[in-house]
Amino acid sequence: MLESLAMDPRAQLLSWIELDVDALKHNLRLFRQRTPERTRLLLVVKANAYGHGLEPVVRATGSEVDAFGVHTIDEAHAVRDAGWSGPLLIMGHVAHARAEEICALAAEPTLFDLATLRRLDALALRRRTTIHCHLKVETGTHRQGADADELAAMLAFFAQSNGVRLKGLSTHFANIEDTTDHGYAKLQLERFRAIATEVEERGFRDVIRHTACTAAALTLPETCYDMVRLGIGAYGIWPSRETLASTRALDCGNDDLRPVLSWRTRITQLKWVPKGAYVGYGLTHRCTHATRLAVLPIGYSDGYPRALSGVAHVLVGGRRAPVLGRICMNITLCDVTDCGELHLEEEVVLLGAQGDETIGAERMAAWGATIPYEILARLAAHTPRLLRENPVPGRDAPLNEMAP
Ligand SMILES: *Cc1c(COP(=O)(O)O)cnc(C)c1O
Repeated sequence: MLESLAMDPRAQLLSWIELDVDALKHNLRLFRQRTPERTRLLLVVKANAYGHGLEPVVRATGSEVDAFGVHTIDEAHAVRDAGWSGPLLIMGHVAHARAEEICALAAEPTLFDLATLRRLDALALRRRTTIHCHLKVETGTHRQGADADELAAMLAFFAQSNGVRLKGLSTHFANIEDTTDHGYAKLQLERFRAIATEVEERGFRDVIRHTACTAAALTLPETCYDMVRLGIGAYGIWPSRETLASTRALDCGNDDLRPVLSWRTRITQLKWVPKGAYVGYGLTHRCTHATRLAVLPIGYSDGYPRALSGVAHVLVGGRRAPVLGRICMNITLCDVTDCGELHLEEEVVLLGAQGDETIGAERMAAWGATIPYEILARLAAHTPRLLRENPVPGRDAPLNEMAP
């Protein structure tokens, strides 16, 4: 007993993130089942795998997915360092000065301008290699994407160059999470369909067409094409209430997404403060009764949003403990008056489940007037990530410590 406790990596930690690997695999299999047979799964691991930790996520899911997607060249390095040698899509612009690294990593860049395409072609020819490119087209989001003129010029260039090959054709929806009315998404899909047909008629063969993020894959099966780019859903979080409603309305069952991440900390001081006492910076909270306070060693520098001051609760002993006063850079205070008997270094759940209570990323996002994506993406990289695999019901599964 003593020995196993001593071996538990959590004993030494005051704040950590646990990943339920089975939930992650479950979610990926759910998307496998819900998408057409030929559709590949690309797991998006940008923003440190939505805060889950890029390295542990890549290692845990390499056998379940067909490709990984990142935003930056640095993230592409991290995916290769984690041991993935398969297809790797970079979705953001890579500084021209770092374009060599695309070749070294055998990554596949997303392109939306002729100037970058020319540059990569020259580079590939010099290195006697081929860069496999994804062309991202404008269909109505007006973010990254080649408009009709740029597209025509780029296709002409692809047709006559040997350094770059057109491997993929993509677009991204503007209004699919925020609404149950998919009229605009369907308009974008119509434009994409026309472009894909034109690309095929121009003689480009075996081009991987991909348009779908999580919400599109769940609510508009016709967006799945040859590959889906899955982010938030793979981590077990619904993109929005609207997506949940649209998915349920489709009624194909099998929509049991399981959250992968929980974030835990420990009580580092317990104290009673008298009726009338102020709590924290700015004196924003004044106790109306004698209050038992717990000090938590996390704050906004760890990704616990300051906007949650006086709004959120945490879970202590399976009960809700309201956050009192201002959330600080490294410290948060909560009211544990009604949380029963507690001890120093007792475990506290910031995000996740304890007893019968759950705090989801969706709820935390609502408290902070933001979206679950932002809550997850801003979880600090310095917090250690621990993997939980094959949990036995009613018992804690073994934890393997991962580097932060
Ligand atoms: C982030 C991103 C995705 C994944 O979106 P989710 O809603 O998290 O599934 C897909 N495609 C692109 C281009 C992205 O930037």
